[in-house]
Amino acid sequence: MIPAGPEGADFQTIAGQLGALLEREKRRGRKFLRWGPAGRRALAALEGKADPGLLLEQLNERIRKCRRCRLGFDRRQAVPGEGPAPAGVMIVGEGPGEEEDQTGQPFVGPAGELLTRMLQAIELPRERVFITNVIKCRPPENRNPEPGELQACFPFLKEQIRLVRPPLLVALGGFAARTLTGSDRKISELRGRSFSFEGRLVIPTYHPAYLLRSPENKRPAWEDLKKIRRELDRLGA
Ligand code: SF4
Repeated sequence: MIPAGPEGADFQTIAGQLGALLEREKRRGRKFLRWGPAGRRALAALEGKADPGLLLEQLNERIRKCRRCRLGFDRRQAVPGEGPAPAGVMIVGEGPGEEEDQTGQPFVGPAGELLTRMLQAIELPRERVFITNVIKCRPPENRNPEPGELQACFPFLKEQIRLVRPPLLVALGGFAARTLTGSDRKISELRGRSFSFEGRLVIPTYHPAYLLRSPENKRPAWEDLKKIRRELDRLGA
């Protein structure tokens, strides 16, 4: 019998207990019912061979219910992100805007369309990329996220990176670049350089929303995109 966990025990604790139970029953030669695809994924998770897609969906559910900072009380819905896991690249933007808040999807609207075209330009289909933001809920009136809000949301981004395991992170705009590089410099000073976050390569570049307002920066952004393509080829991602 599985001992009752503390209230709010996380999935991994419960999975660990169930995994140990399954292991014990297997050693005793017990047979189990046949599992369908969903059951096999759950079984893999319970046995410690966790399906990253399943764990990511569970993380998304936690993000959708989160009220860790005040943005959780003002949003229509949280926007966890989307894409495959594992993925060769993770794009990290700033936070949801009005259309993202309405749809629950990251990078929709004109900035999202530009991002899709930027990825196409380096032969990187959007569906092969995991796309998220440093802040998962829309700040009112699209104001800048505050330091306490960035800090409260950061563990979700770290957990996404752990599950998606991208060799390359692309930081779009100053907030994402400063979060992933630990620097307090402007995006114009960070782009063109390479950084590391927990052993993963980080390339900062301009946010597509900024490029729509400042098209004169499309040329340096194109240089960054070519660099991303080169690094992807080098990493075999
Ligand atoms: S912004 Fe992040 S920390 Fe704040 S409520 Fe939304 S998900 Fe939670």
